[in-house]
Amino acid sequence: MACAGAGALAANRLQQLQAAFETDARIVHRLLSQRVVQHDAIMATLTLLQPAAAPGEGRAASAEAPLPRLPSVYPQILSVLQRPAQGSWPATLQAELSAAEATSRRTGHAALAALDLTAGRYHLVMAGVPASYALHIDLRTTIPADEWPMDMATSPVQVTLEQGGQAFVVQPGRTGPGAWRRSFDFHKLLASPSQPLTVVARRSVGLHELPWWGMLGWCVLTALLWGAGHALRRQRVARQRAEELLRLGQVARLNTLGELAAGMAHELNQPLTALLSSTQAAQRLLADDPPDLPTAQTAMARAVEQARRASSVVGRLRRLVERPDLAGQAQPLALPTAVQDVLHLLEPELAQRGVAPEVTTAADLPSVLAEPVALQQIVHNLLMNALQALEQVPPAERRLHLTLQQADAGHVALSVRDHGPGIPPEARQHLFEPFFTTRSGGLGLGLTLCESLAQAMGARLALAPEVPGAEGRGAEFVLTLPTAP
Ligand code: ADP
Repeated sequence: MACAGAGALAANRLQQLQAAFETDARIVHRLLSQRVVQHDAIMATLTLLQPAAAPGEGRAASAEAPLPRLPSVYPQILSVLQRPAQGSWPATLQAELSAAEATSRRTGHAALAALDLTAGRYHLVMAGVPASYALHIDLRTTIPADEWPMDMATSPVQVTLEQGGQAFVVQPGRTGPGAWRRSFDFHKLLASPSQPLTVVARRSVGLHELPWWGMLGWCVLTALLWGAGHALRRQRVARQRAEELLRLGQVARLNTLGELAAGMAHELNQPLTALLSSTQAAQRLLADDPPDLPTAQTAMARAVEQARRASSVVGRLRRLVERPDLAGQAQPLALPTAVQDVLHLLEPELAQRGVAPEVTTAADLPSVLAEPVALQQIVHNLLMNALQALEQVPPAERRLHLTLQQADAGHVALSVRDHGPGIPPEARQHLFEPFFTTRSGGLGLGLTLCESLAQAMGARLALAPEVPGAEGRGAEFVLTLPTAP
């Protein structure tokens, strides 16, 4: 996009330069044509002014009289030559002027002679009767500087008048540094049949004339847009990951626990208060002398009733939070993919602790039967526990192995082994008990939840027995899942 946009900007600038060049060249052609056409008009006038009848002394003098005044009116005319009747041209130019006179007589219009374009001079001969005329013209004073469309000294356009391999430089054309090969050309004959000179305009474009700032700006803009798009995409991935983690994470569990506790407190508060007041009343009645036994009995009956109510509330809540049978929702899935998904979710946590998990997957591993979310939850919890354990060892020793292999004919085992401090023998048998934790701030529900989730979908979660002498530390948990039929 950056290259295409910058290229389009450069092409657009070249088009603008070419359009301006062609306009200037056409104006130059028109101006020069207007000037040289003047020469034809002067020649026509000169041939008309001479005596039409037989030459007499007085007439010859009057025909010659206007000649010297022409150069003062037209600065481009250096001199006017006349070949009088029966006379001849000046000896130095005799041959050329005579030849041009013959051409002029044949064509009916003036003809060029003694062309010296390098010096910018030529003669224009018009055959007449009885006298013929020749104008000696200097092109340098023909150029109309006041109407010229360009600055002659600084313009990059070169303008020449050319004929037969000779060229008169009208405007030299400044070639700036870094002239580029791309150039514009203009060729057109002057609009005067008597002076067939070609107007040639050329212009080469300098690299400095390209719109570099615009091109750079466009490139920066596309880079910024690309960067913003990239950042947005990354942000979206991070957000999705965070949402997923939240779904699996403790925050959600704590929220549920909090709601459960608040609900229980609310539901139980009333029967327990009633139970308390009934038993206190019964206590008082029994302390009376004589004790009011029938009323005390009634109060105790009410207390029993409230205790039953409290028990039914607890029962109701238990039924409410009872886990549905996950086995029914189990579906065949590829264990390596599920594990990779969780590793992807945990990428920030792994990177933060400098842990690069090593995953070993046996070839031809069959699909397993599992409930996807429950499986994710178990693997997530096992990995989080392993990471928390690895935090207690120096970064260089933080290793984490995941092994996926066939356990037996009908089962696939996923083992998560870390090289953390391991689990002390006295803690091993309590790991899966609710609220057993050795971490400050731990809930002690993670492994319990994992175990019950595993059981609910027909899998098994166990702590691998310690292998004596095997590097001396670390913990390994093994999740055994049934293979899909
Ligand atoms: P919590 O993480 O909230 O403490 P868990 O049920 O997940 O609850 O873990 C219970 C206890 O098991 C932890 O407090 C810890 O002592 C121990 N434990 C679990 N996994 C590991 C492990 N990979 N390495 C060492 N100890 C572990």
